[in-house]
Amino acid sequence: MSSTTLLIIIVAIVIAEYLLSEWLSYRNRKAATPQMPPQLEGLYDADKYAKQQSYFRTNNRFSLITSTFTTILMIALLSTQIFGGVYNYCLTITTNTIGVTLLFFGVLFLSYGILMLPFEIYDTFVIEERFGFNKTTPKTFITDKLKSIMIAAILGGGLLSLIVWLYTLLETNFWWAAFLVSISVSLLMNLFYSQIIVPLFNKQTPLQEGELRDEIEKFAEKAGFEITNIYVIDGSKRSTKANAYFSGMGKKKRIVLFDTLIDELTTQEIVAVLAHEIGHYKKRHTLKNFIIAGFAMLVQLYVLSLTLTSNTMAEAMGLMHPAFAVSVIAFGILYTPIDLLTGLFMHSISRKAEYEADNFAAKYGLGEDLISALKKISVKSLSNLTPDKLYVKFHYSHPTLLQRIKAIKKD
Ligand SMILES: [Zn+2]
Repeated sequence: MSSTTLLIIIVAIVIAEYLLSEWLSYRNRKAATPQMPPQLEGLYDADKYAKQQSYFRTNNRFSLITSTFTTILMIALLSTQIFGGVYNYCLTITTNTIGVTLLFFGVLFLSYGILMLPFEIYDTFVIEERFGFNKTTPKTFITDKLKSIMIAAILGGGLLSLIVWLYTLLETNFWWAAFLVSISVSLLMNLFYSQIIVPLFNKQTPLQEGELRDEIEKFAEKAGFEITNIYVIDGSKRSTKANAYFSGMGKKKRIVLFDTLIDELTTQEIVAVLAHEIGHYKKRHTLKNFIIAGFAMLVQLYVLSLTLTSNTMAEAMGLMHPAFAVSVIAFGILYTPIDLLTGLFMHSISRKAEYEADNFAAKYGLGEDLISALKKISVKSLSNLTPDKLYVKFHYSHPTLLQRIKAIKKD
């Protein structure tokens, strides 16, 4: 295959992904109805439902603009073979393989970040603000950005250096070593995320004494979960949207409740949400996810190793000889179809896990409380009640509110 043909294929994949994504988004737009689904009658009043529809349309339009912009940008960069050009420029600064790779990705990462900044600012301070969700101050926004860049530089840069070093050492046999390093970093991240990363952005405090803690304690004992692992996080610092999540494994496990959730829900509803999170722990969802994601990563690294020395790929990207950094970008695009399939699979596993966690709560007689909690959370965040079926398959990590209510009622 000639490098021109390959470049055409790469660009075609970028366009095809864009078209697929916009087609799904279009289907989702068509599925939105000004009438409430009858099963959810009474959930919103007319005004609030109109507001939800408007929020949905605003976000849908905004994501169309954002993805059109990034797609046009990507096509322009690829067809002018700028990636190869930038890499050659980086080579004039340093010829050290690790150094030049870090510099190359650093330049791309920062330029992309700067280009996307207006979109992010608009999303937080215009859209979220208009619908009454935003609590982020400009100061929080800026410090968040700086911290994220720092974390990406340290963690991403560190991991990238290690992988490139392994590549210089083992050449195309580097994939299994890169896998071991990546999986270890990802395991450490999973275990220490709550202690190292979260405190950089939020305050977490153990659940305070009182009626809520007493009720939760009673339930946790029944379900065999240690209460010391339950924390409250100051989500209200950024948004009024409410949430709860489970993180970590083994001794590092913890359930985190947003302060916004505690403000909005009754004690029994919070216990039901907690039961759902304990369900994730009892059913070992984190571990299962970790294993599946690890396997996907292994396959991806192996396939990557097969393409790294391809001259055709290097030429398609504007280089004379293959370079790790530039090949990774071309590979990333060529891998998109497999990535999409992996995503479909991971999302379906995730939705199944949500049903199982709901089922766990229902088994303890908390089904009705969970339903009313889910309804409140959904209304509070103006969630779309009638997403398109195919859109859900591609994008939803959780089943829709209606699907969850139906499943809980059956238990
Ligand atoms: Zn869940």
